[in-house]
Amino acid sequence: MLKIALAGNPNSGKTTLFNALTGSKQYVGNWPGVTVEKKEGRIKGQKEVRLIDLPGIYSLSPYTLEEVVSRNYLLDEKPDAIINIVDGSNLERNLYLTTQIEELGIPMIVAINMMDVVNKNGDKIDCSKLSKSLGCPVIPISAMKGEGISDLIEQAVSVANTDKTTDLSKRFSTQVENVLSEIQKQIPNEIEEKQRRWYAVKLFERDEKVIQQIKKSTKIEALVNEMEMAMEDDSESIITNERYQYITSLIQNCYQKKSKSKISTSDKIDRVVTNRFLALPIFAVIMFFVYYISITTIGDLVTVFTNDTLFGAWISETLAAWMETIGVSTWLIGLTVDGIVGGVGAVLGFVPQMFILFAMLAILEECGYMARVAFIMDRIFRKFGLSGKSFIPMLIGTGCGIPGIMASRTIENESDRRMTIMTTTFMPCGAKMPIVALIAGALFGGAWWVAPSAYFIGVAAVIISGLILKKTKMFAGKPAPFVMELPTYHVPTLGSVLRSMWERGSSFIKKAGTIILLSSVLIWFLSSFGMVDGSLQMVENMDESILAVIGGWIAPIFAPLGFGAWQSAVATIMGLVAKEEVVGVFGVLYGVSGDALELVEEGSYGELGAISQHFTMLSAYSFLVFNLLCAPCFAAIGAIKREMNNAKWTWFAVAYQCVFAYVMAFMVFQFGSMFYGTFGVGTIIAFLLLAALVYLLLRPYKKRSSSRAEVNDDLCYQKG
Ligand code: GDP
Ligand code: MG
Repeated sequence: MLKIALAGNPNSGKTTLFNALTGSKQYVGNWPGVTVEKKEGRIKGQKEVRLIDLPGIYSLSPYTLEEVVSRNYLLDEKPDAIINIVDGSNLERNLYLTTQIEELGIPMIVAINMMDVVNKNGDKIDCSKLSKSLGCPVIPISAMKGEGISDLIEQAVSVANTDKTTDLSKRFSTQVENVLSEIQKQIPNEIEEKQRRWYAVKLFERDEKVIQQIKKSTKIEALVNEMEMAMEDDSESIITNERYQYITSLIQNCYQKKSKSKISTSDKIDRVVTNRFLALPIFAVIMFFVYYISITTIGDLVTVFTNDTLFGAWISETLAAWMETIGVSTWLIGLTVDGIVGGVGAVLGFVPQMFILFAMLAILEECGYMARVAFIMDRIFRKFGLSGKSFIPMLIGTGCGIPGIMASRTIENESDRRMTIMTTTFMPCGAKMPIVALIAGALFGGAWWVAPSAYFIGVAAVIISGLILKKTKMFAGKPAPFVMELPTYHVPTLGSVLRSMWERGSSFIKKAGTIILLSSVLIWFLSSFGMVDGSLQMVENMDESILAVIGGWIAPIFAPLGFGAWQSAVATIMGLVAKEEVVGVFGVLYGVSGDALELVEEGSYGELGAISQHFTMLSAYSFLVFNLLCAPCFAAIGAIKREMNNAKWTWFAVAYQCVFAYVMAFMVFQFGSMFYGTFGVGTIIAFLLLAALVYLLLRPYKKRSSSRAEVNDDLCYQKG
């Protein structure tokens, strides 16, 4: 069995190539001890070859989790060959890693990917010359189009069967090479001949992890010091410079870039979009329109239709009438029409809005704008201790919190990662959209600002939490630098937008058929039956139902937030099952045949409009704030637990979210009431909370004793 590892920069196309080579024969897991994704697979048509997709990295230094994982795998597991995948449209930058991989003493083959882009740009890469200079095979491919990959794998297998490594003794300037060969002589014998170049370079760079492994003799340190004096630079920078000089000489013979005299359209757009002053306002306006259009205008039209007409009238009335004619008992009609159609229908009714929202977000991502936003947000997030990397999970979290939480894996600094996991679900996920749409439509008459405000409440909650948490000892420390390539803008393809929309949206439809269906049946039973004269009976008045009793116990908790009715308490609690359930519960409770229908005004979300009997605009907004910010659904809490890999942190996260949501909703309601002229104990408590919040936001930062390197070790990195 041959082991071939796939290594390359992030976004060089590793995953695309991996999928093309392995097809369905793959296995996804985690690297031992850390939550970095590990992908392994068998190559199609080559039974005896195992392919490993390593995390994307820019270098083999020990600074990020991905780098540590990759290099330990390469050093300890010694795969039979490495396919170094290189983004041909970004040749110079990608070759930096190549110059490090070749030092490992493992047979290497270079795959120049994205050849379709290179050709389209009119650039030329001479692969045979490059191959000669590097001393290993260089194969042009396009992973996306599947071009050149069979040739690649054939050559990779033949390289893996040899033991061929390249002579690297003339890569750097003579001065540096001389010192490196001196160092090599000092390396203990247990290190294989082939790996000595790597260890020599790392010892020269004073790589901490290598020094822990090999005792560094004073002789080596003296050599390095001498070199540093002579070149007036630190040893790590000396090597970096040497690598770039080598790459420049490589590229001179093998690479011709079509000269671009004028700045590209992308750059022109970026001048405006990432402008220091305009960037944020532009982003705010774009997100405002995304939410305004998908929830309030177009979305509202579709949802009113699906809720009022499709589920509210056509389906439920037809179904009820038909069931009556065939003589089905009343309770079963109630269960079907009020329970199932009411609950599931209420949720499905909002699916069109979700799809429009997801399509618009997909367009923003595909065209390259969202990458700029991460860059813009980095500037802001940095001010309160998070990096732009934290924004990516939040971006993904606007679809569903679970992949959002999982995306936090790319953050190497542990406290940043924990903080991101804790705050990602503040962003309104797709399943929270029905709550927003319902409140906006049924209580605010579709006011323009309600839906976009949900998004900005999420962003504000993240920022406020970031500021508060960073000032505690637990989360202190500087955020890691954020490096990201900005792809050129391009028009998204219809196919990819639709695919992304479907990927994010289809799970909601599936949930409607399973978890929402079950919950709806349960809620219907609990709300239709009650204890009358000591026996369980169907009750006419919902307020006598079991659900009302249970809800009545919980409701006082929410009374200070303005929504003390048992119905809203039940809806909030059921939101833990799935956030769609918040609306689903109201759907069941006000099922079309229920007595609530008379209370409903025309055109206000069908029977769901009946929620207006429990809310004022103010308490509805407080309800919205609480449900947006409190603990996410069980599935997302599960994801938090997996990523935290620790029960205490999980509970802390959930408790923090609930307390934060409660405090915010409390202040919204109490201060709001004050403006309507109510002043009481609640108002005073609200002022005290506000003062506490201001204190937490403004107090000075705590120092963290451990250094960056220790933090990296914290990441429960385990060897072997
Ligand atoms: P990874 O981060 O190295 O795993 O990179 P991915 O496989 O996720 O690819 C990054 C992006 O490059 C994706 O959007 C791919 O569709 C795209 N991509 C990959 N290979 C090619 C290629 O050969 N040509 C073009 N044009 N795009 C590619
Ligand atoms: Mg990948």
